[in-house]
Amino acid sequence: MMRASLKLFQTVADMPRHMETAAKNRSEDWKDKYFKALNELDDQERLRAEKVTRVSRDLLAVLQHFRGSDAGFDKDLEQLQKGEKLAEDAQQSRLRSLVVSLARMAPPVARDSTASATRPAATAVPVPLAQDSVAPLRELVGLLKVPNRLRPVIEDLTRRLGASANADLPLIGAIAEQLSVILGEAGEDRTLAARDVLQALIDHLSLPSAAQARLGAITPQLQNATDSAAVKAIAKDLADFVVDYVAGLHTEVSGLNSFLVVIKARLGEVSGFVDLEKTERKVASSARDDLNKSMQLSLDTIRGRVNTTDDLKQLKDDIQRQIGIIDGNLNAFMKSEGARSERVDEQHGVLAKQLEELNRETDRLRKQLVEAQDQALHDTLTGLPNRLAYNERMHMEHARWERSGQHLSLVVLDIDRFKSINDTFGHQAGDRVLKYLARELSSQIRAQDFFGRFGGEEFVLILPDTNRAGALKLADSLRRHIESCRFKFKDQPVAVTISCGVAEFTPKETPMHAFERADTCLYAAKNNGRNRCEVSAG
Ligand code: GH3
Ligand code: MG
Ligand code: MG
Repeated sequence: MMRASLKLFQTVADMPRHMETAAKNRSEDWKDKYFKALNELDDQERLRAEKVTRVSRDLLAVLQHFRGSDAGFDKDLEQLQKGEKLAEDAQQSRLRSLVVSLARMAPPVARDSTASATRPAATAVPVPLAQDSVAPLRELVGLLKVPNRLRPVIEDLTRRLGASANADLPLIGAIAEQLSVILGEAGEDRTLAARDVLQALIDHLSLPSAAQARLGAITPQLQNATDSAAVKAIAKDLADFVVDYVAGLHTEVSGLNSFLVVIKARLGEVSGFVDLEKTERKVASSARDDLNKSMQLSLDTIRGRVNTTDDLKQLKDDIQRQIGIIDGNLNAFMKSEGARSERVDEQHGVLAKQLEELNRETDRLRKQLVEAQDQALHDTLTGLPNRLAYNERMHMEHARWERSGQHLSLVVLDIDRFKSINDTFGHQAGDRVLKYLARELSSQIRAQDFFGRFGGEEFVLILPDTNRAGALKLADSLRRHIESCRFKFKDQPVAVTISCGVAEFTPKETPMHAFERADTCLYAAKNNGRNRCEVSAG
């Protein structure tokens, strides 16, 4: 552009003196206009570049939330962050590969969820299992021989399995739950068959590896179970585990899933914006070239005329005409620049708004996930930590115990003759007893101890830095506390007592083994008359 304006001055300088003043006056007009247009163009470009930087920065802030989910994604994100100095094309391809990584990270989503891409669906997206897990389940349910009164349960399961091309986890949870009921009804002679059925169910559950390891641990327990009570207990464990697991998984996956859909859509839009920006810039630079060319052409024409004509009037007319052309070109250029700038501004406004919304959505979702996670770790009836929370905490305390070499003890508590409380006063009374017991016992334990509902009317305590004698002392004081409480349901006294099994971890012992020892002691306490505690010799 400087080249074109220099030529202009040369041209004016070359003119005969008598024409100089008039031509100069005119040339000042469009020369100013030309520089003004160029300055405006530079300003617009600078603004556009700032906008792109801002959009990228906002997007990066949002993408930070996904750090740690996928190694490839983290790498792309890191490079995109470093990329401020990178060439624009490289930045764009980083954006693209982020979109691809996100797509890879997103679990398979329900087909219609893309339609609601701007707002995550409130409802849970079912977690589909592998196709081939349906047939064995169907077969499994078909195998069950059950008492007549449980027929409708089996028919319902068969119908649900029949209707489902890909069984989902809640359905499996329902099956496990029903199995625990069904197996509870079976007689001694059914123990072996029941074991096989349970084993088949464990084998066919298709869960992520961490959960699968927990399921795998049930297998030896199952193989050692010789009586129906043991099998029933395992079936119940399994049902509890699946239900807890599904509850946790479901909320987490559905939240993340729909959010990833939103992020993917936004990324696509930002990518599109960068594309548009680039195209607009190309158009702008070719418009600038065109303008320069037409200016050059007009100047050349003027120079030609100056050199070849003596007719001043004719010359003046020619110059005026050429200036008119330049003026027209400049106006058209500025107009189209204005329109381009407006298009980019508009697109940027939309994106900025969407990013802001996305940030709000991220915050909301994060809070929701924290809440859901919290809920997944708590039992809804008593509000106590549940079985899943026990597993997590035990894992942590066990690791700490192995490092510290301090004592670690475990207490398993079970309400005595709870079934008869239910039978005599009703299920509602039973529920009230569970809540009451949870509240009373929670108030009796130290902050560093863990107290949770293991399932049904069974509770568990993890006692760090506590030896066997200390654990027994605490368990017995809890037992006495419950015995002395005067629980009433609708003004009727309800006698509530508990039995406890206590075990201190022995060197190198696994949580499962220590739990089994505590559980054996609990059985002994029941056999020895209930409302008592037994401690494992170690
Ligand atoms: P024991 O002294 O040997 O422990 O006898 P029990 O009756 O307490 O044990 P059993 O295992 O025979 O029965 C436990 C009962 O607890 C059966 C089940 O219906 C009931 N139960 C489990 N969970 C709940 C619950 O959330 N609410 C109520 N009301 N009852 C429950
Ligand atoms: Mg009981
Ligand atoms: Mg029990």
